[in-house]
Amino acid sequence: GQCLSVCPTAALTEVNNVSKVWDALNDEDKVVVVQTAPAVRVALGEEFGMDPGSVVTGKMVASLKNIGFDKVFDTDFAADLTIMEEASEFVHRLEHGGKLPILTSCCPGWVKFFEHQFSDMLDIPSSCKSPHEMFGAVAKTYLAQKMDIDPEKMVVISVMPCVAKKYEAARPELGHGGTKDVDLVITTRELAQMIREAGIDFNTLENQDFDNPLGESTGASVIFGATGGVIEAALRTAYEWLTKETLENVEFEALRGIEGTKEATVNINGQDIKIAVTHGLGNARALLEKIRAGEAEYHAIEIMACPGGCIGGGGQPYHHGNLDILKKRIEGIYSEDRSKTLRKSHENPMIKKLYEEYLGEPYGEKAHELLHTHYVARQKM
Ligand code: SF4
Repeated sequence: GQCLSVCPTAALTEVNNVSKVWDALNDEDKVVVVQTAPAVRVALGEEFGMDPGSVVTGKMVASLKNIGFDKVFDTDFAADLTIMEEASEFVHRLEHGGKLPILTSCCPGWVKFFEHQFSDMLDIPSSCKSPHEMFGAVAKTYLAQKMDIDPEKMVVISVMPCVAKKYEAARPELGHGGTKDVDLVITTRELAQMIREAGIDFNTLENQDFDNPLGESTGASVIFGATGGVIEAALRTAYEWLTKETLENVEFEALRGIEGTKEATVNINGQDIKIAVTHGLGNARALLEKIRAGEAEYHAIEIMACPGGCIGGGGQPYHHGNLDILKKRIEGIYSEDRSKTLRKSHENPMIKKLYEEYLGEPYGEKAHELLHTHYVARQKM
């Protein structure tokens, strides 16, 4: 399909999970919890005739409630959680002479590529699970306790812009006590299919809000959907933690936009922190080879496998590599960020509560057990 030309996971055949999701919804014994990735809300509308980049968060939530999910939550919540852990890991490595650069780890598209092609560099990726996996781990522990249900009865469904997330969810290390963090992944296109199958008139839906506690999010989390967004979100938090000062201008323009590789230097406490952002596996390979050869030095890098980041993912409405569509989706992402009162992950009140009530310290023991993972050296393909 279209995936072959633009999707880094072209080697993978997409399995349609829609009927499995209907089965879970029809099973009275199950509590079915759904989460939606940042990039879905700026592309789903295209399936129903809207312009690219239309932000349809409220209609998307309404459609999921109409379909019959027991709880409708937001992967953005877990993106804020990812920043708590990843910024902590960055600060820890910076202050304790740890391995640099740190490489963001939310994109399973490059994780697999990296395990095969750069298996000598497995100490650079952050050990953080990707946001939807963190969500699943928290849902089946903290949330299950709060809802007073058996985690075995909970089914966690992720709506993702991504085909690779389906394979990521099946990795044996991404689970806890014998249960998988995430049970099923459907793409943006598959959600559109479900909305049609349910006979829902998407365009006339009234906006609805996510459920809580795992539905609250900041502007930092939504920008995960665009290339450069994860590093920008991490910087908003790491800057404040390291300097103990308020970051007034949260928008790091140099990290934004569609160029293949972007670089920025941010002065923190008198130290120049060097950052690089890249998207597309060809660009990623070039950047990693330069780092391996010692020709470039950075403190932090972000890699996304898809063009433009997750907004250009293989599970999104077809964009045929059209830059105009990608740019409009990116603009949708930044407008959602600007519309938020809170724009730094560590300010999310529900995240603070989660650490207070359950996790303890960021990057602490419980957080490691639930929210971190490891990588495996694999044979060169
Ligand atoms: Fe999936 Fe996003 Fe990575 Fe593409 S960039 S493979 S959509 S996680």
